[in-house]
Amino acid sequence: MAGKLDRYRSMRDLDASPEPEGVGDPTPDTEAPRFVVQEHHARRLHWDLRLERDGVLASWALPRGIPGHPEENRLAVRTEDHPIEYLTFEGEIPAGTYGAGTMKVWDSGSYSAEKFREDEVIVTLRGGRVSGKYVLFRTRGKDWMIHRMDPPADPSLEPMPDVVEPMMARLGKLPREDGAYGFEVKWDGVRAIAHADAGHLGLTGRNGTDFTPRYPEVRELAGNLGSRRLILDGEVVAFDSDGRPSFERLQSRMHLGSDAAVRRRMGEIPVTYVIFDLLWLDGHSTLALPYQDRRKLLAELSLAGPSWRTPGHREGDGAALLAASEEQGLEGIVAKRLDSAYEPGCRTGAWLKIKNHLTQEVVVGGFTAGTGGRAANLGALAVGIHDQEGRLRYAGKVGTGFTEATLGVLHRELEALRSPQSPFEGRQPPKGTVFVAPRLVARVEFREWTRTATLRAPAFKGLVPDVDPASVVRES
Ligand code: MN
Repeated sequence: MAGKLDRYRSMRDLDASPEPEGVGDPTPDTEAPRFVVQEHHARRLHWDLRLERDGVLASWALPRGIPGHPEENRLAVRTEDHPIEYLTFEGEIPAGTYGAGTMKVWDSGSYSAEKFREDEVIVTLRGGRVSGKYVLFRTRGKDWMIHRMDPPADPSLEPMPDVVEPMMARLGKLPREDGAYGFEVKWDGVRAIAHADAGHLGLTGRNGTDFTPRYPEVRELAGNLGSRRLILDGEVVAFDSDGRPSFERLQSRMHLGSDAAVRRRMGEIPVTYVIFDLLWLDGHSTLALPYQDRRKLLAELSLAGPSWRTPGHREGDGAALLAASEEQGLEGIVAKRLDSAYEPGCRTGAWLKIKNHLTQEVVVGGFTAGTGGRAANLGALAVGIHDQEGRLRYAGKVGTGFTEATLGVLHRELEALRSPQSPFEGRQPPKGTVFVAPRLVARVEFREWTRTATLRAPAFKGLVPDVDPASVVRES
């Protein structure tokens, strides 16, 4: 046996690590060989599957654990053989040594092998959490796949959907049937759906953009959930020093080119993922459940950490929450029917946003140069929104609300979009406007719409990433 464990021993400092050396004489169980799945909180959370075979444990590292559903094939990386004593090993592998982190037994039991070859293994596992027939097959080098051959142990188990589009709220007033609604603060940030999948986190924006690399501090949320798998709805928010969500502050986290730039900025302007809905939980969709029940399940998960939190909702008395939100300088509130299902991608009356100030998303179609101190920069944005026929209509100039930082970003992005033609149909912005291809979407706050469909007193709030300019229409 000794030779088989050479690699295992050469990779480790067994004086420093509590891991077994494998010098004893454990009796292999040939009648019913044993298996173990260990949950290993190393640099990256993963699971290790080990099968007793020829006096050692044949081992694979599974970044996403053991699949429960035949439609979910998962990566399995072949690792070095481990000693039989590792079947029961749990403990802390010290920092600085190989595999540093916490190892605990996630499941164990016995198995029978139908096939055990160099490149393909078919086994039936009989454990406490996992039972069923699995195939492991080599795809390339050390890379294998693990696939469940049996139907799921729980027949109602569903594979995790890749994409769930967020449900949207309609602009409205406080509903009359106050008691039929749950009320939440409206968070001024960027909407994001989170897939927390066996230690891995994915954050997806409204338009399907992958936000995960932009907000690395939220990743830990999935690590904390271990082998649990869920899909959440929420908003990525940057809070200011008074604890108010600041879309302005969040701007400087949206347009960073490299992972290094993200890491640097993360220290100055951390974000929080504010969670307000649960869409899928451990193999089952929760979309059809009433809002009230989804909220209850969400509360039971107690998701609170350094970069994520789950503020509660309030049933009834929306007027009080709206007043409080106004007093605290917040954007407004959202009313959600307690009995309503989650309808992905839909904007229905079941969700109403009630705002303290009018805001509007606009398409940037041009700019004018600044005067005085801003001469080298831009002075104002010429913005528009689409009419019902999909034509971009000029809606006014936005000349306030900028900071030095946003001016710089805007100017750079707009220069790259310069175009000889006006993107606006019909009424045109004033002479001297430099036109740009209509690609950028901005959010503005304004007082009212004039009779000529122009924004009165608009102020720039920030660029909105991940929104298709073609979808920008009048909101009020
Ligand atoms: Mn491991």
